[in-house]
Order: sequence, then structure tokens, then C-alpha cells
Amino acid sequence: MNDVRIDDLPVRDELRGKSPYGAPQLDVPVRLNTNENPYPLPEALVERIAERVREAARHLNRYPDRDAVELRTRLAEYLTDTAGHPVGVENVWAANGSNEVIQQLLQTFGGPGRTALGFEPSYSMHGLIARGTGTGWISGPRNDDFTVDVAAAEKAIAEHRPDVVFITTPNNPTGNAVPPETVLALYEAAQAAKPSMVVVDEAYIEFSHGDSLLRLIEGRPHLVVSRTMSKAFGAAGLRLGYLAAHPAVVDAVQLVRLPYHLSAVTQATALAALEHTDTLLGYVEQLKAERDRLVAELRAIGYEVTESDANFVQFGRFEDAHATWRKILDRGVLVRDNGVPGWLRVTAGTPAENDAFLDAVRDLKKEQE
Ligand code: PMP
Repeated sequence: MNDVRIDDLPVRDELRGKSPYGAPQLDVPVRLNTNENPYPLPEALVERIAERVREAARHLNRYPDRDAVELRTRLAEYLTDTAGHPVGVENVWAANGSNEVIQQLLQTFGGPGRTALGFEPSYSMHGLIARGTGTGWISGPRNDDFTVDVAAAEKAIAEHRPDVVFITTPNNPTGNAVPPETVLALYEAAQAAKPSMVVVDEAYIEFSHGDSLLRLIEGRPHLVVSRTMSKAFGAAGLRLGYLAAHPAVVDAVQLVRLPYHLSAVTQATALAALEHTDTLLGYVEQLKAERDRLVAELRAIGYEVTESDANFVQFGRFEDAHATWRKILDRGVLVRDNGVPGWLRVTAGTPAENDAFLDAVRDLKKEQE
């Protein structure tokens, strides 16, 4: 049975020799590697989910609301309340995690013969989903401090004329945000070059010191803001991502979405979570404070830290980041080696988890002195 491997199958050429996305899921006391929210959902919300799901279960003989209208309406309200810009149900689309949102966008605006460009290092799934949808991937530049160099980025866009441009802000894995002026300049460059779609991936925006760029969708039909309930809402297990854009974009992605892609159980659970937005966003404030503490303490210990607007922190520099990752793991703490040479990433956890992490890296620093 084990004699046939992937490459023995007639898989598409571009998948040959590649590995799937894989943050290690290890059984370690302190897991700070996948930018999850460390706080379990509050009991009152767990009860509300159970109620809503029980009700949904009574109708599981039927397909769910294909257009997820109630859920999109509530998401639009959440965005209007928090991002200071009015959006309606017609501006919002939802899918199973923002990964699926990104996949639908690339199926719609990318595909064979087309290209997408992102400024790397950034969220590796943008490139992987591009590959999975037959979209060519172009790695755009970043400065050594991981900021986006506007002139170099404009040049890359003009030269490659990509169909889709990804801007991740705050960026993963580096943590820094992209200033609104930069996003606007790159949007203009992308319009002059093609015009292309510009996807602003705001998975971590609730943790940012700055504001969402949602307001920029006004009058810019090629701009898409993508969001998720995996981080700020503490609901990574729910798999609910969404986008806000011009209504024409929402109509366009429906050309590629699978019918009934959002199960009735997912819709019911997300609706329950949206009833508890205030409590969930309270955790965000605690996590922001913990993130700032991690930055300050890592610097005090003597590490270099990239400015962070997210719920994680990139720290370094290490001659051999992977060997350091292993040494931290040996001390019971799982962080992330994203393959950025010299750097590792730690997710802000509970105060106790962050203390355990800081003890581990303090210990490591002593050992290396
Ligand atoms: N965008 C970015 C920048 C991310 O870091 C992640 C998750 N790590 C996602 C999108 C996808 O999140 P999800 O599919 O859970 O919504």
C-alpha cells in the first residue's frame, strides 16, 4: 500500500514535489505558534451556540441559506460599528475561513494565465492558494525592516502587471502594519498597470494600533478587505472568514462559490458569536496589552523585535532560527519558524503562557552568553 507516492499519481505539474501548509500541531504545554486567541469562548456564548445550533439542527434536512443573508447582515453591522464606515449586506461576503475567501477571490480574479503578487515575507497561503487555483505567483519586495518600500512595490506592480495584489496589514509573520498612504499608492499603481484587484488582508486588524482600511472601499471597486473570526473573535475552530467590497465583487465571487458552502451549523455558530462581540473584543484589549509586554520584555532581554500591530511578535535575530526554535521547544514552548532567515514568531497567549515563553528565551539568552 505504501509503494505509491503523490508524485506517482497524475497530479498537476505545479503540485509535484510540493508540501502542504503545515504548522506543526504538537502536544506541548505552551502553544504559541498559530496566532490563535488563547481564551476559550465564555460559557454564556457556549450556551448560546448550543441553543442556536439546536435550532439549526431541526432544519438540517434542508440546505442552509445559500446566501447567508442574516449572517452577512450581522457582519456588516459589526464592520459598520467598529470600522467607522457604513457597509451593508450587499458589501459583505462570507466563507469557511478567510482562506476560503482568498481562494474564491483567486478563482474569480486569478486562474490559469493570470498572476497574483504579494510582498514577502507575508502570509504563505496567499502564494499556496494561488498555486492551487492555477494562478502564477510573484514575490514582491520588502525592506530589510519588513516595511513595504512604496517605490520598489510600485515598480514591481508596473513591471509584472499582476491581476491580483495582496497587501497584508498587519502583516503575518512580521507583525507590522502597512500605512494607509502606502495601500492607496499601491492601489493606484495596480489600477494604472492593469487594472487589478487589490486584496487587503486584515486578519489581525482588531489588534492594530491603527484603523481598518475598510473606508477605502468607497469609490474603489477593485479594493477588497478580507477579515476573519479566527483571531479577534477567538473562533479559529469555527472557520468563518468574510470580505467587504463593492457589491459587484460580492456578485462576482458567487460565480465560483460552491452552492451551500456555509453549513447551517457554521452560520448558527457565527451568529451566536456576533451576539457576544463586546465580551470577545474585551479579550482583544488584554491581548494587545500582552503583545506590548512581549515586545518590551523581549527588547529588555536583548532581542530584536519587529514593530507589532498584531497578536504576535517577530523576534530575532538568530544565526540559526530553526535550532533556536528547537531549543525553545525543548523548554516546553512551541513558537513558529516561518522560514524567515534569522527570525521566529511568538503568538501572544495568556499572561502565564507569555511568562513561560519569556522565561524560556531568557534562559536561552543566558546559555548563549
Ligand atoms: N490571513 C492571514 C494574514 C492569516 O494569518 C490567516 C491565518 N493564519 C488567514 C488569513 C486565514 O485565517 P482563517 O482561514 O482562519 O480565517
